[in-house]
Amino acid sequence: MVQKNLIDGEWIAGGEAFRNINPSDTNDVVGEYARASADDARLAIAAAKAAFPAWSRSGILERHAILRKTADEILARKDELGRLLSREEGKTLAEGIGETVRAGQIFDFFAGECLRLAGEVLPSARPNIGVEITREPVGVVGIITPWNFPIAIPAWKIAPALCYGNTVVFKPAELVPGSSWAIVDILHRAGLPKGVLNLVMGKGSVVGQAMLDSPDIHAITFTGSTGTGKRVALASVEHNRKYQLEMGGKNPFVVLDDADLSVAVEAAVNSAFFSTGQRCTASSRFIVTEGIHDRFVAAMGERMKGLVIDDALKAGTQIGPVVDQSQLNQDTDYIAIGRQEGAKLAFGGELLKRDTPGFYLQPALFTEATNAMRISREEIFGPVASVIRVKDYDEALSVANDTPFGLSSGIATTSLKHATHFKRNAEAGMVMVNLPTAGVDFHVPFGGRKGSSHGSREQGRYAAEFYTTVKTAYTSA
Ligand code: ADP
Repeated sequence: MVQKNLIDGEWIAGGEAFRNINPSDTNDVVGEYARASADDARLAIAAAKAAFPAWSRSGILERHAILRKTADEILARKDELGRLLSREEGKTLAEGIGETVRAGQIFDFFAGECLRLAGEVLPSARPNIGVEITREPVGVVGIITPWNFPIAIPAWKIAPALCYGNTVVFKPAELVPGSSWAIVDILHRAGLPKGVLNLVMGKGSVVGQAMLDSPDIHAITFTGSTGTGKRVALASVEHNRKYQLEMGGKNPFVVLDDADLSVAVEAAVNSAFFSTGQRCTASSRFIVTEGIHDRFVAAMGERMKGLVIDDALKAGTQIGPVVDQSQLNQDTDYIAIGRQEGAKLAFGGELLKRDTPGFYLQPALFTEATNAMRISREEIFGPVASVIRVKDYDEALSVANDTPFGLSSGIATTSLKHATHFKRNAEAGMVMVNLPTAGVDFHVPFGGRKGSSHGSREQGRYAAEFYTTVKTAYTSA
């Protein structure tokens, strides 16, 4: 059965279907999905526009009930949805279920936020006048998501968009439509009025581009590559539209001489290799002071030897496959580039064969890398990391910040002085002390600075900045 797009409350078949392939076993077709056209996208935008006046004035209890019901169903079906996610994306079952739970928690959080949308009442600077500051929805929100978090990223964009009274046109990544289809189906059955949430699965260059080109989309939230992010920005400036971008990272993880070695190694392995390194918060630069350098490299090698890389759905797998052939090519190209640049491939980097045909890559660790190398400057988006040796904390901080990106920054240290200084001086939106650079809570702000992000933060109460617009009303008594 071909899963369809949802436009104006109807499930619509596309002209053609595309196949969702399991990266752990390329013979396994997860499902077939209707490919939307540019015209479908325009119909979806028109439906969202028509649905906006009523939805923007809908009662908070209606919104609360729909979001709450959605959270409950996602959580009740976490094993099945987590399995679908791991099957289409390739992260391990534990990671897939964990991500699904997070999506449920996000809907639950925003179900609560509907009930406490507060404003402010202030006296005017002039006598006998009152001032009220309120938040109103922005209008039609376009949501464009990447393949690496197939349920959490759609959830953290769709939930606040609906919570604050916006209508939505949602285009998931073409590689992983299954999880997106599932949450749209749940929201639809939870009772969303027609046109409030529209799903258009399809190509970025067709469906995504039609969204960028539409004057009827009032805000676009995007997570994906830097190149596409730039297109979103340029098109949005043209339409004087609000936009929010989450893009790449080249996140540093500093290890100081005084670090607890096992804490540092666990955090480093998790940061760089879990979820197959396919997280924008993954760390790919280990910046290590010379007193601990050799012990850290040796312990990393030992730890990496024990990693189980296999089918994402198999019990005991710690690292699943790379998402597809083109990402695998990018990873192996960068491994070749690192060698040409003079870094030493200390561990891994080999293609692996398993019982089923899939995109299996042994995580790779370079040593003797410098921060000027391409492997230290460009986002690889795979299980490839390098160790950069530095003299002391000051050099470590300066190398950590010497990057065009600024999403997440980590440090392993037992020194309160260095931890405090690092939290204050790391040029990143998120800082982690004795923790992996990836792995964040659902109820607090997420986002970066410099080349990683643009616009206000996602998640938690800070999401209101993007999904609402502020009104200041004056009343003469
Ligand atoms: P990734 O490397 O994560 O695939 P992309 O930026 O290519 O990064 O994709 C992120 C999302 O942006 C996907 O949903 C993709 O289809 C979409 N996209 C790609 N090209 C365009 C475009 N020209 N206009 C709008 N969306 C696009």
